[in-house]
Amino acid sequence: MQHQPGPMLASQEVAAPADLGRAFPTGSGPMVWFDQIRNLLVRALLPPEPPVYELLWRYVRDEDHELSLAVDRAMAENALTPETIAALRHKYMGQLSQGDVSALVAAAQGQADALTRRIADGQTDLADYGRAIADGGERLAATLDSQGLAALLEQLGAATSAMQAANARLLTELETAATEARALSEKLTSAERAAITDVLTGVLNRRGTIAAIEKAQVESRANAVPCAVSVVDIDHFKRFNDRFGHAMGDDVLVFVARHLADRVEPQGGTVGRLGGEEFVAIFPGLGALPATGRIDRIRAELAGQVLRSAVDGSSMGRISFSAGVAQDRPSDNADRLLERADQALYTAKRMGRDRVVPDRS
Ligand code: GH3
Ligand code: MG
Ligand code: MG
Repeated sequence: MQHQPGPMLASQEVAAPADLGRAFPTGSGPMVWFDQIRNLLVRALLPPEPPVYELLWRYVRDEDHELSLAVDRAMAENALTPETIAALRHKYMGQLSQGDVSALVAAAQGQADALTRRIADGQTDLADYGRAIADGGERLAATLDSQGLAALLEQLGAATSAMQAANARLLTELETAATEARALSEKLTSAERAAITDVLTGVLNRRGTIAAIEKAQVESRANAVPCAVSVVDIDHFKRFNDRFGHAMGDDVLVFVARHLADRVEPQGGTVGRLGGEEFVAIFPGLGALPATGRIDRIRAELAGQVLRSAVDGSSMGRISFSAGVAQDRPSDNADRLLERADQALYTAKRMGRDRVVPDRS
């Protein structure tokens, strides 16, 4: 695609600065993301349509690092076209993970099940009917001794049998259809689960975490109880990677995710990985201070352990994390709540790490 600015795009105001994209400072909010997206649209002369916008929204927020790298590559090759966007959407955003598609299939399956039941009932009725005709035929043949009538009844019985056979075939076909619909529904459910699960650690990924926070906000507000979230970041993780290697670093991420999930989830909370070495714990029903106490105990327990390689038992020393905690406010959305927890985390890092700090804004 050629990047000749059109006549309407030549003004200084919309000209794209060189450092567009995700190089913006973090925590600068939706309007900044909007500006970034607008600049990207203008620079690549892309149509400002929802599918394009949605993909760029994920890009500027770096919601899926693989997707971001793919967009970076396309931009570097001047190939960020509507066709590329469509291909990226297909590859990274999936097409089968929409909740409404899943609901649709579930409804279709319900209908097929109901139909199967109806036909099965009909089949029983028909059998009863056939038996009644046969009984009647016997009685008529015995009392009236009319051969003609008996033959007629025999014919009717044969017709009934043929109908039963046809019905049975239909029933089998419907059962197959219902089984297929059920399998498709299960496939969609697992695709949906995969779309919100972090592949490395098995806890929720960023997308799933945001959705879980939104759900916790809605529910806690409806029940008039507090809700707090904690953003957890492993201390000096780069150093750990440098010393023990990336693969061992990955093992630590899995270990920390389990450490958090095992302690947060039995109490009704949820754990997710925001990305890198950053996790979130959601505490429905808890205010900032009790949640701070809980995550601090989890922190102390982790920091008190010496990690050992599962391969040769060699020591890898201790790891710790810092965390910030914020309590939901009625005006918060998930991003705003996370941002306050993130600010508190930043304070915890500044104060020397290996500690938990509640939001005081
Ligand atoms: P701080 O205490 O300030 O948080 O220091 P830090 O070193 O933990 O933070 P920094 O942001 O400087 O580095 C984060 C490191 O996390 C760098 C990167 O290599 C590592 N990292 C991010 N994602 C992964 C991953 O999926 N696997 C591994 N092994 N390392 C990762
Ligand atoms: Mg970090
Ligand atoms: Mg860190």
